[in-house]
Amino acid sequence: MATTRKVVIIGSGPSGYTAAIYAARANLSPVMFTGIQPGGQLMLTTLVENYPGFVEGIDGPPLMETFQKQAERFGTEMIADDVTEVDLRRRPFKVTGGDVTIEAHTVIVATGASAKLLGLPNESKLMGRGVSTCATCDGFFFKDQNIMVVGGGDSALEEALYLSRLGRKVDVVHRREALRGSKIMQERAFKNPKITFVWNTVVEDVLDPTAGKVTTVKLRNIKTGAASEAQVDGLFVAIGHQPNTKVFQGQIRLDEKGYIVTDGRTRTNVPGVFASGDVMDSIYRQAITAAGTGCMAAIEVERYLEALEHHPK
Ligand code: NAP
Repeated sequence: MATTRKVVIIGSGPSGYTAAIYAARANLSPVMFTGIQPGGQLMLTTLVENYPGFVEGIDGPPLMETFQKQAERFGTEMIADDVTEVDLRRRPFKVTGGDVTIEAHTVIVATGASAKLLGLPNESKLMGRGVSTCATCDGFFFKDQNIMVVGGGDSALEEALYLSRLGRKVDVVHRREALRGSKIMQERAFKNPKITFVWNTVVEDVLDPTAGKVTTVKLRNIKTGAASEAQVDGLFVAIGHQPNTKVFQGQIRLDEKGYIVTDGRTRTNVPGVFASGDVMDSIYRQAITAAGTGCMAAIEVERYLEALEHHPK
């Protein structure tokens, strides 16, 4: 029987790594399931200019590598698998990823959030071949080409503004005729001569999977029902994010959007299970806030374990 660990951290974005740095320095010998693709959403970003400490900014991947090295330096044990099963109804808790199962007195969930997709038949077939959820990662491939962005929130506007510096033109397709994004972003987008809005319209399909690239997008005006086609080289889907909480469903309290509910101190409704970063934060969603709550979760774990030692359950 494997020994029971003090803390298991699930997820390796800024939040998970920060929790690991704090937990390791507190002698809690953390084990971290990093996931098959470690590093979280910053791995899909180029220049990060608002993470304090980097005057000139730093690209997302090297920033995450720094986080990882710092967590390893203090002895965090890394397991490069996705967690496929948890049992938080028993004590100690059980966390399984790949062929490894770890028992632990506490768990920090830092699994983050992922970009939402439209669910179109050809969308995933053309993902990375003209369909993208990350302008800063893929915009470069569409220099002087026709770009379409889907969505009406700040993400869509931010993507459109970024892409307007690269593409020939950027059409923003939105399913209503009012944007959800902030006023300042709206003003910037409206003023930009390269950006055009296509209102009350949804993308019905994206072609051409047989060509292995995006050539045409099928649209429908949802007010008039009129169908149309647009010649597009790059389709950027920017319709929000969803928290990565599938594996915890039915075991931790989630809100109506699937985010983990915490009490302001990273504590979930299950004593001993903590959540930090984008998986419990649909509002700020910043690397720095994720790192901050990761630190909070590790400190809460320390306190919880200390209390457990004095008053065993
Ligand atoms: P969001 O505010 O939830 O907006 C999502 C947009 O996508 C909405 O306009 C929504 O349409 C549309 N949408 C959702 N599902 C769709 C579907 N299946 N088909 C077509 N359209 C769909 O998400 P977000 O833009 O990612 O922003 C999330 C949060 O992060 C916000 O608080 C935002 O302010 C913040 N953020 C801030 C910045 C910044 O300040 N620079 C940048 C990015 C994000 P409806 O409007 O009709 O619902």
